[in-house]
Amino acid sequence: MMDGTEKILDTFAASVRDPFNRLKEYKARVGKKAIGYFLTDFPEELIHAASMIPIAVLGNNENISLADAYFQNFACSLVRSTLESKLNHTLDILDGMVIPHICDTTQCLASIWKIAFPGGYFDELVFPKKRHTPSARTYLLNELSRFKKGLEEYAGVKITDESLWDSIRLYNNHRELLRKLYAFKRDHPQALHEREFFTIIRASMLMAKEEHSQLLSQMMTGLAERTTKPEKKVRLVVSGMVCEPLQVLDLIDELGGAIVNDDLCTGSRYFLEDIELNHNPLEAIVDRQLKKNPFPGYHIVSDEAGDSLLDMVEKTDAHGVIFLHLKFCEVHNFDYPDLKKRLEERKIPHLLLETELQMTSLEQLRTRLQAFIEILGRR
Ligand code: SF4
Repeated sequence: MMDGTEKILDTFAASVRDPFNRLKEYKARVGKKAIGYFLTDFPEELIHAASMIPIAVLGNNENISLADAYFQNFACSLVRSTLESKLNHTLDILDGMVIPHICDTTQCLASIWKIAFPGGYFDELVFPKKRHTPSARTYLLNELSRFKKGLEEYAGVKITDESLWDSIRLYNNHRELLRKLYAFKRDHPQALHEREFFTIIRASMLMAKEEHSQLLSQMMTGLAERTTKPEKKVRLVVSGMVCEPLQVLDLIDELGGAIVNDDLCTGSRYFLEDIELNHNPLEAIVDRQLKKNPFPGYHIVSDEAGDSLLDMVEKTDAHGVIFLHLKFCEVHNFDYPDLKKRLEERKIPHLLLETELQMTSLEQLRTRLQAFIEILGRR
């Protein structure tokens, strides 16, 4: 029989397996509209404060065929899979969609979406590329004000400062819980499998924050009971957009690795920084956005990305770094030579793996991961 922790983990896994059927039930229960968003750095709080349900559209591992009519097959599988889900009606339960521009491919996706799927709510967000200038802050504030106004018109709801602060507080509390869970996992890597941990994070992007926070708090009490068998693990930092397919996480576990830090959009990038509660709520959202780690290739920065990667390694005493790139992702490949150089200057071992959401055979990855983890384990 499953105990409380197992049951909650099972609920999280079910929401990751079938997010849109769960959404259908939830929408019927609460009578609200749902707005999907593409990764990353999306200000969900604004949708929540407009009394709607924000939900991440994370792609899936099913074959892609319909999207081939719109995208070359050398576009990344995350974007192609998202479009496939729209074309095969998986996303029909959504009332609208928002696509932030984070690379040329997402910019293309937004253009296709606007033309191919007219009607319904749609918006795109354009973040500043240079973040450390006064004009970047002014620009982003205007962009988010425009976005907020559009949401208000669509939802027929005024987003007041009070409602936005309420949503911000809910999201801050939730982010804090996820950070606590990560800290616990670092200290007790044997207590949670990698797939379990990253499933909890993914579920947090797919379930109502109220429900996810409640289940997560409950689960963390039970997790202490799983800490009895300490094992030596190779401590790894994972860098990339998403960890796909999820079997990569099983491999890391099986081969004796433990992820102690990451900059994934379906990982730390989602919950690392809070929104400060000290001035106007929209400005506070802007300030959080501007202090986040640079997104590869998108933000024009000098050494910031390398600094933040080294910081992640040093803070968590990691043995090495795995770059987990989605095939055909130009932006991560663009930053890779500089990041590699920074790691090599500090003699930090690293490994680059390329994956796709639809990847079925992981044998080659297994061999490379096994060799990497074994070498690190002997140091
Ligand atoms: S994986 Fe790369 S190409 Fe694909 S959406 Fe992310 S940043 Fe863009």
